Amino acid sequence: MSLVSTAEASTADWLRQAERVTVLTGAGVSTDSGIPDFRGPQGVWTKDPAAQTLFSLDSYLADPDVRRRAWQARLAHPVWHASPNPGHESLASLEHSGRLRALVTQNIDGLHQAAGSSPERVIEIHGTVHWVKCLTCEQRTPMPEVLALVEAGQPDPACPDCGGIQKSATISFGETLERDVLNAAVAAARDCDLFLAVGTSLSVHPAAGLCEYALVAGARLVIINAAPTPYDGAADALLRDPIGEVLPRLVAAAT
Ligand SMILES: [Zn+2]
Repeated sequence: MSLVSTAEASTADWLRQAERVTVLTGAGVSTDSGIPDFRGPQGVWTKDPAAQTLFSLDSYLADPDVRRRAWQARLAHPVWHASPNPGHESLASLEHSGRLRALVTQNIDGLHQAAGSSPERVIEIHGTVHWVKCLTCEQRTPMPEVLALVEAGQPDPACPDCGGIQKSATISFGETLERDVLNAAVAAARDCDLFLAVGTSLSVHPAAGLCEYALVAGARLVIINAAPTPYDGAADALLRDPIGEVLPRLVAAAT
């Protein structure tokens, strides 16, 4: 007899039968890669609420010192030395099995693509740290080009086209999500037969609301997260195991 739980065995069955799986991933998928969580018990903002100021659009626009500190934080971001972990790799395998409708992620680290997920299947609802955008003219520049300027001594590099303030192409507090990206995520939630929420506290809207779209459309909902979420009562199965262990087992059993 295997030691897997009933919930895990059921999830493996559903995954095997599914034709269109939409996955939503959050910070818990990337913590094994050394990318810190922000809202969890050991989260960056839980331990230091002032750090959140760096991510507010209003303070970023108003205060050159906030921008200087934000560029230094980007330079020191663990993402530049991070590698995908077995959780990311198993989701790339799920895509290769032909069952993945879309991989919606709240993460900005690009590790799903680094693990082999197709960029056109990955919907980054909170943006990406791998690009810089101008807040005036929306010109986009690869992050390494701008970080090179920061390293060379420019505290807050301006847009080369219009001189505007630049920021990582991530969604800050006070900034709305990009409509096209959000629409694509909602469409994927409505058009799946299994919705897997992995490593997300499901506490941030509109990402969390994707579960509701999937449920209303008749999909099964499986939540894989260490801590309880507001959607646990609506889920068909809850898995508390470490993501890097349970996801590879599930995908191996289903493919
Ligand atoms: Zn510009």
